[in-house]
Amino acid sequence: MKITDVLKQDKLLLSFEVFPPKTETAFDSVKTATEEMAKLKPSFMSVTYGAGGGTSRYTLEIAKNIKDRYGVPTLAHLTCVSSSKETVHARIRELIDAGIENVMALRGDLTPELENSDRTAWDYRHAVDLVRELKESGADLCIGGACYPEIHPESVNRHEDIRYLKEKTDAGCDFLTTQMFFDNNLLYNFLYQIREAGITVPVIPGIMPITNANQVARAVKLSGSFVPVRFKSLVDRFGASPAAMKQAGVAYATDQIIDLYANGIKNVHVYSMNKPDVAEAILRNVSDIIG
Ligand code: FAD
Repeated sequence: MKITDVLKQDKLLLSFEVFPPKTETAFDSVKTATEEMAKLKPSFMSVTYGAGGGTSRYTLEIAKNIKDRYGVPTLAHLTCVSSSKETVHARIRELIDAGIENVMALRGDLTPELENSDRTAWDYRHAVDLVRELKESGADLCIGGACYPEIHPESVNRHEDIRYLKEKTDAGCDFLTTQMFFDNNLLYNFLYQIREAGITVPVIPGIMPITNANQVARAVKLSGSFVPVRFKSLVDRFGASPAAMKQAGVAYATDQIIDLYANGIKNVHVYSMNKPDVAEAILRNVSDIIG
């Protein structure tokens, strides 16, 4: 099922994200965790892609398993910046052959090595290049793209970031998923600005339940997300106790989700990070709201 069709349902829709293992030895435990999450029947599950190889070969295997065994629509991520056209074309072929209908078209992060390499030799510079190629391939795929309520860290300013986002959706992105954020007002402002700029595709806000104190620093470093005082005090108060921090982190994420739904946003993507217990706790917290 295509994500655009999933989003047509008129109820709170929660989707989950998983990431493939980095090593073969971890494959079985990650696969089990993804299956536990699939059994919770999220609206869809996305499977990330390790840029530049690494975990990339497992993305397809996990996405296909979730879809075929549990009937949960899957979204396979694909990055392009560190890949050749040949590799990307082979990956697209594999996805289509596996019956995957949804692809998240991403640039991927720039490693220091890439930063210092000759950009004229790159086959892909931006995610929009991959979106165009997916469209030109003629494959009947639903294409997602990433967006950043607090602007992408490399962007010079918001205006430029939104201009390139518009280029990406005009090229054929069917929906957008946001980077994590911890203050819903950032999302509401962003939505206002992109709608003003003529971007009309569905936007799926991404919510990250922070369940241990170390995760905060990591998540903020990666995403550049603003951490509100309310959230900081929660980490200061409960960070030393793993069980309490997990409960508080799930409660904070639930609060964000309920606020989004109350404000008319019915689809939320949970960065559930291969943690079925966290996904389940959030679902439990909103069970009467989902109905
Ligand atoms: P782009 O859309 O190419 O944007 C990157 C930067 O380039 C922005 O500053 C943008 O404004 C600018 N830009 C865009 N187009 C142009 C243009 N034509 N000319 C000049 N500048 C331009 N990474 C992974 O490795 N694997 C994953 O599975 C993964 N999943 C993700 C899922 C989500 C929802 C998000 C938000 C991020 C994910 N990432 C993943 C991280 C992502 O790869 C990085 O954030 C990366 O730095 C940017 O990717 P992008 O697709 O947004 O790039």
